[in-house]
Amino acid sequence: MNTSELLQYDREHIWHPYTSTIDPLPVYPVKRAEGVYIELEDGRKLIDGMSSWWCEVHGYNHPVLNAAIEKQLKEMSHVMFGGFTHRPAVELAKKILSVAPRGMDKIFFCDSGSVAVEVAMKMALQYWYAAGKEKKKSFLTITRGYHGDTWNAMSVCDPLTGMHSIFQGCLPVQHFVDRPACRFGQPCREEDILPFQTCLETHAAEIAAVILEPIVQGAGGMWFYSADYLKQVRELCDRYGVLLICDEIATGFGRTGKLWAVEHAGISPDIMCIGKSITGGYMSFAATLATDKVATCICTENPYVFMHGPTFMGNPLACAVAGASVDLIMSYDLEKMIGGIERQLQEELAPAAAFPQVADVRVLGTIGVIETKEPVNMAVLQAKFVEEGIWVRPFGKLVYIMPPYIIRPHELSRLTQSLLKIVKEM
Ligand code: PMP
Repeated sequence: MNTSELLQYDREHIWHPYTSTIDPLPVYPVKRAEGVYIELEDGRKLIDGMSSWWCEVHGYNHPVLNAAIEKQLKEMSHVMFGGFTHRPAVELAKKILSVAPRGMDKIFFCDSGSVAVEVAMKMALQYWYAAGKEKKKSFLTITRGYHGDTWNAMSVCDPLTGMHSIFQGCLPVQHFVDRPACRFGQPCREEDILPFQTCLETHAAEIAAVILEPIVQGAGGMWFYSADYLKQVRELCDRYGVLLICDEIATGFGRTGKLWAVEHAGISPDIMCIGKSITGGYMSFAATLATDKVATCICTENPYVFMHGPTFMGNPLACAVAGASVDLIMSYDLEKMIGGIERQLQEELAPAAAFPQVADVRVLGTIGVIETKEPVNMAVLQAKFVEEGIWVRPFGKLVYIMPPYIIRPHELSRLTQSLLKIVKEM
């Protein structure tokens, strides 16, 4: 198949994320990728500004991760987790739990981020079922959140920008309060937390858990909110007897400058979801962590077990590469590495704030966001980025980058300068 036949077949038969089969957006054929470079079939090399949607923190084709997966491949690529265990799973569990937020004691291996969210929500429901409070069946979240595309995950995604309108009447109805207006670095005022507090006060008897993305709301709006808000959320959950689920799928493993975003607020959740960069972006894998209290309560009442057990649970290849990725993360001086990228992003993206078409510029950790006043034309803009030799995929009014942590200063400068050039011409 030559490249044009490949593209033709793709266009006629393959669904891409959120695309039409009748009039799909263009796709670019990738031949290989190495470090921060993605090489297209025609030989063009693009600097990766997306880390393949938050995942590729160490860059592509990393020798240590390749070696881990190759070694495991020679032992076994998969074995069922029901009735068996294995070294890659146990070693990975130990590594993650030893650096996880305070209190995280049990780990459930999942197939993807959305499944990790489903598992977290099921844990919360089973917890209250076991505790004899069966009325606690709904969830409270903040608007502009994103937690995945499966059924219950969808129900806690933003009700306007998510998929609620299409699936209305089918999705479970949850409680929503406005996302905090207080930005990261600002204090949380009484009026910022009041809607959240009022909702808990009124509905605590039916709310099983609060679920939110700590500090950084990703796909729902790339918004960075006050750590004080999160701190108060934790206090209010405790006061009103509601569990706190933190979805660290995008933020975990250093992306915001701390190993976990909850560290900005000095809090710890009852249940936590991790994914994306857990395998350094090598394969689909995720996990749901819980406190001993949550796990023990679930398992001390009929049916005495947690009701979930996917076929590929604890996949050895995924565990092996995840173990190597966690080791790499822990070998980095994260503060220096992420702090350096953060300072460079702040400096180099700042001029965009003066462009008439730009509403806001914000940076946290390795995440740089340019919010435009009007929605952008993704296909047009993307083609221009590719011409400039960078890979950036904007959506709505958000043109944003979150490059691999191993990006070097001159590569990051090329990325930011090309980004600014195209945004300025918009
Ligand atoms: N939660 C968050 C915060 C996410 O960003 C995502 C993925 N964008 C998910 C959950 C869902 O993960 P996955 O796509 O692996 O199912």
